[in-house]
Amino acid sequence: MTDVERRQDRSPVPQDWTYAPAPESTEIVRLRERYGLYVGGEWLDAKEHFTTIAPRDEAPLAEVGQASEADVHDAVTAAREAFAGWSKLPGSERSKYMFRIARILAERAREFAVLESLNGGKPIKESRDVDVPLAAAHFFYYAGWADKLEYAFPNRTPKPLGVAGQIIPWNFPLLMLAWKIAPALAAGNTVVLKPAETTPLTALLFCDVLRQAELPGGVVNIVTGDGSTGAALVDSDVDKIAFTGSTEVGKAIQRRLAGTDKRLTLELGGKAANIVFDDCALDQAVEGIINGIYFNQGHVCCAGSRLFVQESIYEPLVEKLKQRMTTLRVGDPLDKNTDVGAINSREQLDRIEELVAAGKEEGAEIYQPPCRLPEKGYWFAPTVFTNVAQSYRIAQEEIFGPVLSVLTFRTPDEAVEKANNTPYGLSAGVWTEKGSRILWMAQKMRAGVVWANTFNRFDPTSPFGGYKESGFGREGGLHGLEPYLTFDDSETFGG
Ligand code: NDP
Repeated sequence: MTDVERRQDRSPVPQDWTYAPAPESTEIVRLRERYGLYVGGEWLDAKEHFTTIAPRDEAPLAEVGQASEADVHDAVTAAREAFAGWSKLPGSERSKYMFRIARILAERAREFAVLESLNGGKPIKESRDVDVPLAAAHFFYYAGWADKLEYAFPNRTPKPLGVAGQIIPWNFPLLMLAWKIAPALAAGNTVVLKPAETTPLTALLFCDVLRQAELPGGVVNIVTGDGSTGAALVDSDVDKIAFTGSTEVGKAIQRRLAGTDKRLTLELGGKAANIVFDDCALDQAVEGIINGIYFNQGHVCCAGSRLFVQESIYEPLVEKLKQRMTTLRVGDPLDKNTDVGAINSREQLDRIEELVAAGKEEGAEIYQPPCRLPEKGYWFAPTVFTNVAQSYRIAQEEIFGPVLSVLTFRTPDEAVEKANNTPYGLSAGVWTEKGSRILWMAQKMRAGVVWANTFNRFDPTSPFGGYKESGFGREGGLHGLEPYLTFDDSETFGG
């Protein structure tokens, strides 16, 4: 009891939040020195390679293939050949493979979680408790739909599209892979997926799962590489592109596909408003704000990066928030106590630093809790800006880092107007005890997802997607199946 003091209610409280190190062992992960491309169920050599590193200490992890235009072409050809057999399998057969994949992911969860944290920099408690279980849950969920498509879309005749080209970002590498691949396979399509340049390793480990599940070769193909590989996939002979990433690249893809008959869904950036009313449960809201912006270092498209606080509770809320920030543990992603891990790449760190400098210059007031950042690797302390005007870059642009901008409002109308004052429209949060206000706000807000008295909740049954510059198309739930199907409605409606 030497380092605890007693409150009046006699319950012990620690004097500080120093935890003993609790490192997760990396022994479970067996990395190859060099990875090729997974095409047609085989590993093919790439002509060129690049090194993928661990953002926590910049240590090289493996050499990864840089797929060329010709490699992408081969992968699409393999997917096209496999489509003939895969699309004709009874749905119940497709679901068997998918249930297998889900079960193997669950069995190998620890291996995937360690590798995800190693390659991406996110805290192990998040990859272990969120990314990997949710990825498995998506395969379980969509496996259940594979043999029920005609019930999912009654009076319509659902058919697969063909080959889907899928491009994913680095913030949730395995989870985004599952969001993309699971509905595509359930609907009877085959896929070519390109993981992000900085986080290819869990996608490459996933190829091992595909082999273990004995998925027919060519049904899923993984081509690693940089933006040029993504661009080659967009231009290739696919029937659909599903993209998650920045609004800038999303727009470039949309321009590229204009006038072609390729289908497109885009899940792009966000600048979510997290709106706190004065009748909310304040401590609960503070937890939601913390989770909303510091989860995954703020590398989250739906992060609650703009906090709108009702003026009457501004001081106590900001005080509590700063207090809570001092308890966040920033450090080694593989330590089980870590709350905020490493920034994903040097490039992303530069972008965060640039926007934070702009925030200071424009006149906002910065607060960062005292924390000692590791010397090697890419790190940024949890940050909150107060005195933020709506016109500041930190209130307008997606920072994609652990940086929160606090703004205020007086009335619900003002909150809605300010929340909607952004080119984005992916998500939002509302904190109030009034159910009627929640429903009113949810209707008024131009955001694909509105969370009430919680934030960053995901479930495979629930659709997710954006308005405005946050993209179009939905992922998750029945809505997530539809973009992978074509409907011969003329049969039903006699057209
Ligand atoms: P990008 O949009 O560049 O990356 C997303 C994916 O697209 C990656 O696989 C990328 O490959 C690939 N790609 C890049 N250029 C092209 C292209 N011309 N055609 C097809 N595919 C392409 O995001 P960044 O990683 O560069 O991040 C930049 C900013 O984007 C972040 O700071 C953040 O604000 C935002 N972002 C938003 C995300 C979201 O979910 N809303 C996710 C990621 C980023 P490669 O990785 O090899 O470059």
